[in-house]
Amino acid sequence: MMKKITDLLTCSSCLNDFRLDKAVIKKYIELGYTSPPKLCDICRKIKNGKSYSLHKIKCKHCGEYDYVPFIPINPKTVLCEKCFLEWQVIKNNTSFM
Ligand SMILES: [Zn+2]
Ligand SMILES: [Zn+2]
Repeated sequence: MMKKITDLLTCSSCLNDFRLDKAVIKKYIELGYTSPPKLCDICRKIKNGKSYSLHKIKCKHCGEYDYVPFIPINPKTVLCEKCFLEWQVIKNNTSFM
């Protein structure tokens, strides 16, 4: 069975699972695509030569590799996107303290 654009996809380059966000799916459908891209967002950016602003980091919290769109001041203390978002939630929840 053919994968749908809205399915959870596996990147053929980095083998990470990824899901397109709704805006991207909408754009794909508008452009007439019926099958999903083979590459995740990061790999597509790298392939398109837009990777100059992405820097590979190793998350200090979970140890996963991720890419950030800025040059980390201290790469050893950088969080991946997932942990960063979690950390922000925790920070917001405890900001009244
Ligand atoms: Zn990828
Ligand atoms: Zn992490």
